[in-house]
Amino acid sequence: MIELRCRDFHTVEAGACDECRSLGEYADTRLEKCPYGDEKPTCVNCPIHCYARAEREQMKEVMRYSGPRMLLKHPILAIRHMLEGRKQAPPLKGRGRGP
Ligand code: SF4
Ligand SMILES: [Zn+2]
Repeated sequence: MIELRCRDFHTVEAGACDECRSLGEYADTRLEKCPYGDEKPTCVNCPIHCYARAEREQMKEVMRYSGPRMLLKHPILAIRHMLEGRKQAPPLKGRGRGP
């Protein structure tokens, strides 16, 4: 999704520009450290919201742009993501809050 927006907004030959790539890497690290593990809700529904403010804003832009476009390109993936998006965050057992 990051690449989708990058291609339309930033001039790059392939993949994503440095800024978008580092946003992608940031998102991957957050995901690796996500205390919910397999039970992970979509980050939008997450009560912890581990993203730093700047990255959270960037990601919101990415979703706003790429969300509807995903629906056209990969309808099944997009619908699955929307359904998962309704899932509430499960209670965290025996772990401290925050990443
Ligand atoms: S925002 Fe919440 S769900 Fe998303 S990675 Fe961070 S802790 Fe996990
Ligand atoms: Zn970019």
